[in-house]
Amino acid sequence: MQTMTTQEFSEQLFALGYAHPAKEQLVCETMAFIAKQWQAGALYIADHKGKLLFQHSQSGCSASPEVPDLSGLQQIPLNNDFVLYSDQLPQPAFSPTWAQCFAQQLHNYHPVDPSLTSHNVMQLVMDRIPTRVFWKNTQQEYVGANQAFLADACMQNPNQLRGHQVKQMPWSEHNRLTFSQQDQLLLSGQQESVEFEEALEINGKVQWIRGHKQIIRDDAGQVSGILGTYHDISARKKDEEKLRLLATAFESHEGIVIADHNGIILEMNAAFCEITGYSPDEIAGKTFQVLHSGRQNQQFYRELWQSINQLGRWDGEIWNKRKNGEIYPEWLTITAVKNDFGETTHYVGAFVDLSEIKAQQAEIRRAAAQEQLIGQLFQLTLQGSSVRHYLHRALELILESLPWLMSIASVHLAPQKPDGQWRALAKLNIVSDSNLANHPDLHSALEKLAEEKTSQTLLSCRHCNQVPAHSHILIPLTLDNELIGAAVLSMRAFDSHNEEDEKLLYRLCNVIALGINRRQTEHALITAKEEAERANVAKSQFLSSMSHELRTPLNAILGFAQLLELEELDETQLENVNEIVNAGRHLLELINEVLDLAKIEAGRVDLALERVSLQEILHECLTLTQTQADSRQITILYTEQKNQNLAAFADRMRVKQILLNLLSNAVKYNRDGGDIKLDITRSGESMIRISVQDSGLGIAEDKLGDIFQPFHRLGAEALNIEGTGIGLVISQKLAHNMGGELGFVSQEGQGSTFWLDIPYYQDQQEQANLYTVLYIEDSNNDFKQLQQIFQLRPEIQLLHAVSAGEGLTMISKQQPDLVLLGVSIPDMGRFDLLAAIKQREHLVVDDIPVFAILADTSIEATILGVEAGFAECISKPIEVQPFLDRLDSWLPDANQAQTGQN
Ligand code: ADP
Repeated sequence: MQTMTTQEFSEQLFALGYAHPAKEQLVCETMAFIAKQWQAGALYIADHKGKLLFQHSQSGCSASPEVPDLSGLQQIPLNNDFVLYSDQLPQPAFSPTWAQCFAQQLHNYHPVDPSLTSHNVMQLVMDRIPTRVFWKNTQQEYVGANQAFLADACMQNPNQLRGHQVKQMPWSEHNRLTFSQQDQLLLSGQQESVEFEEALEINGKVQWIRGHKQIIRDDAGQVSGILGTYHDISARKKDEEKLRLLATAFESHEGIVIADHNGIILEMNAAFCEITGYSPDEIAGKTFQVLHSGRQNQQFYRELWQSINQLGRWDGEIWNKRKNGEIYPEWLTITAVKNDFGETTHYVGAFVDLSEIKAQQAEIRRAAAQEQLIGQLFQLTLQGSSVRHYLHRALELILESLPWLMSIASVHLAPQKPDGQWRALAKLNIVSDSNLANHPDLHSALEKLAEEKTSQTLLSCRHCNQVPAHSHILIPLTLDNELIGAAVLSMRAFDSHNEEDEKLLYRLCNVIALGINRRQTEHALITAKEEAERANVAKSQFLSSMSHELRTPLNAILGFAQLLELEELDETQLENVNEIVNAGRHLLELINEVLDLAKIEAGRVDLALERVSLQEILHECLTLTQTQADSRQITILYTEQKNQNLAAFADRMRVKQILLNLLSNAVKYNRDGGDIKLDITRSGESMIRISVQDSGLGIAEDKLGDIFQPFHRLGAEALNIEGTGIGLVISQKLAHNMGGELGFVSQEGQGSTFWLDIPYYQDQQEQANLYTVLYIEDSNNDFKQLQQIFQLRPEIQLLHAVSAGEGLTMISKQQPDLVLLGVSIPDMGRFDLLAAIKQREHLVVDDIPVFAILADTSIEATILGVEAGFAECISKPIEVQPFLDRLDSWLPDANQAQTGQN
């Protein structure tokens, strides 16, 4: 018999299937066909549980056979449900195709449970899977769907869905439109299938879906519907979003670098490349070490890695190196990334370049330091000191604060007249004996500066001894666009200064110009004042001699008139002589007062300052005024305060003179039957005030300003009240000379109160010396006078040297805080002595202020003195208060300490 091919065998089987509708017979015929083909003696068919269904043997075919012995038979599974047993091998070879066909026949004979029909199973499968499945007919009506789809359609079972169209679904308008367009596209036959990705909006909630729709065709190939499937891709979308965000973060302005556990760089962002200057190719595969700047030592890196390995992280400031070699600061954070076993798999470094911030910080610090310097310079500028002293301190301050300047500096004053000379005003050479003045180009540079009003430079100066190569810069000193001088500063030859530095120098020089100007103006004012005072002295001298010339003949007139009074005269003659005597006395009083005033103004009043009991003086004055008061029924009220120590430090006679003047005025300008109140109180910290209050006429407001003008009587002459109009002027001047004050308040028609403030006497035993002042002068009288003045400053110890030699020794030994050079010093000129004192001090010229007391009060002498370097020039005779003021400005705490002790 000819062997069949598998194909032929299958076809035969199919043919059998169609030819024999009776099922059992069909199976038997098939088995007979197989047995014949395989030349098998016995064939059995069993189901998957082992139950025997058919038997074929020589005796024929039968269903439900006896259970034979199947061992030793070939076992050929047809599908999951049926197994064929044969005593022969399959012939032709076993093929799943015919096995399937045969199994199909057997199914027909031995049908499976309806619940296990493929349709049913398919539905079960569909309902279990998360993928949404639906199908529609050609009218675009839903026919069926799985549970997952029904959930998206917000429905419980397929019956609800059946017959619905997409426009009835609970989705967004946009979703419905897209889906029905897809359906139309498929049904029109233009496309077999479509893919889609949509944001499906179900009741406002969005779900990202991705799906597929395809045409369903019937057996004849006609379009019968649409099958659609899709699934939820929201999670994936979220992940994508996250990735995108991470990618954005990675591309931040922070440099980010990822390395493996060996520190080998794997990934970096654009900022990393930008900051370090390396391209990704250059850096990948290298270790962090390429970035090392060498500014941190091994120990630093050891600790850094220790921290990362132990704590999982390190952050701090570090200096790294860019590809171009530039070293820059960064703020770096390194984090170790660990796996589930706690092993480090990666390191992530993130850093920001701090160089710009650092540069800004440095810039702010620099600007603040500049402002501070200018502030300090202003402070110096506003302090009271001589021009030289000021410039010296100013230059010192600038050189100390600007390390790029060398310690050679000077200030030159511009010529006052068109073809005058530049004049060096101050110079400071800390490093050497610079002889800048010899620089051949200095003069022309100053000329050029004057012309252009801009800075000039003297390059590579070789005229300053022992100074390394340097150059000088000349900065103009201007005030209101007016050139007043130039400052010369120095720097190392190779140090080129930048624009900012020069701007700062200009600003500093503007302040210096102000300082010079302020002192020059002050000096001019002092000079003008001194000139006025000199004129006054001349006037007083004239008056003094005039008064003297008048007094001599007047004394003769009075003497002779008094002789005449003794003669036998008739009434008219007696009256006439009385007139002469009265007028003469008035004139004499006037002349005496003028003389007194002239003497005071000429500074020729000798004060004997001592401890004075004011109560005692007051009693004497009251006794002297009482008769005058009684004659006009004026009551003088005075309650003595016994427990108060009312001692003043003053000249006894002069205090009495002032009080008598005030008391007699209080009587003269009182009304008949009025009263006078006397009072003594402490005024402020260091004064005693004696006030005299009357109930008289008072003083009109417009006349208040004239009261201390000599010979001004404010209309009293018209009232026939005797007087000269000089008493108060003298009283006030005397008060000033004793370090006190005289003042008043008055109301017209109500009365006036005049008061005298006089320094309070303090027990000097308790005072500790704060300062020491040395007075060099060989006249003992002058020293005594000065001693009296210094009693007003008990905090100051006054030393006395009678010669320059003794003085210099005392300066070295006692280190006084101030030196006063008197008019007469036997062994040395005053300027030489000043130079000797300065030489004795170390470097800084003006450490000890030196005052000169000048007999010559001319302006020229004063200017000469100030220019020579004297801190102050005091004219003789010394005026107490102005002198104390100048002393206090140089020894600032002396006065405060004194008042503070009270
Ligand atoms: P006189 O010799 O005129 O009194 P004084 O210098 O003492 O000169 O006073 C100047 C002027 O001040 C007086 O002429 C008077 O007009 C005014 N005067 C002084 N004391 C008083 C007072 N207690 N009440 C009102 N006016 C006064």
